[in-house]
Amino acid sequence: MEKYIGAHVSASGGVENAPLNAKEIGATAFAFFTKNQRQWVARPLTRENIRNFRKNCEMAGYEPFQILPHDSYLINLGNPDSGSIEKSRMAFLDEMQRCEQLGLDRLNFHPGGHLNKTGDEECMQLIAESINHVLSGSTGVSAVIENTAGQGSNLGYTFEQIAYIIDRVEDKSRIGVCIDTCHAYTAGYDLKTRKGFEETFSHFGKVIGFEYLKGMHLNDSKKELGSRVDRHDSLGKGFLGIDLFKWIMADNRFDGIPMVLETPDDSLWADEIKLLRSFI
Ligand SMILES: [Zn+2]
Ligand SMILES: [Zn+2]
Repeated sequence: MEKYIGAHVSASGGVENAPLNAKEIGATAFAFFTKNQRQWVARPLTRENIRNFRKNCEMAGYEPFQILPHDSYLINLGNPDSGSIEKSRMAFLDEMQRCEQLGLDRLNFHPGGHLNKTGDEECMQLIAESINHVLSGSTGVSAVIENTAGQGSNLGYTFEQIAYIIDRVEDKSRIGVCIDTCHAYTAGYDLKTRKGFEETFSHFGKVIGFEYLKGMHLNDSKKELGSRVDRHDSLGKGFLGIDLFKWIMADNRFDGIPMVLETPDDSLWADEIKLLRSFI
């Protein structure tokens, strides 16, 4: 197995541009938005979008397992308000179906938050219900929960919370996890030290299990350990430092999944990918 490394690239001008943008920076994996991430409603993908996306992926050598689309920032699958959660579920289902049309097999999302209106458990139950609802309305695409920094009322910042949600998902074959290194660190997992790295991922293996790991977000952090703030930094420039990324690249538990940069300076992506590759 191999390491697949890339970045969250632009899809402006059409989803079919994402694989081309990824190829241009030497990526072997990529993430993108299948629609404008700051709007609720998007025009359906056209036949031409779909055909060209598939064609460009084939041309550039990207298979579905190397691609990790990301959902809209507006979606909150744990929203305690019944009208709002319905809107989120419909938007998420639409995104799952867009992925299905594009021939993709996974969609990365942030689990959601209770907006200080309910407790954590109630919110996580709602999130699991939302996932069940959306999975039953779509086929072939897995919902991939991203760990969060725990900013505001957002849940999914501990492995136990993610496991709690997975436990309540009916179709375990279509649920996965994406670990964001910046989020894990600011949520309190000390990935800066070798000991912390070993402990964190052995804990991950026990509480969630590597069989659920469907992607990684490789980001340094502008904020400190346990700060619960989500601010990415370029690799080696933040509080995490570069060692963590060497350890990940040398560890076969992270083989065979899309590993994607969401670092702030896109002019560095090609070099960051090269640097990561040199650690393998
Ligand atoms: Zn992320
Ligand atoms: Zn983030």
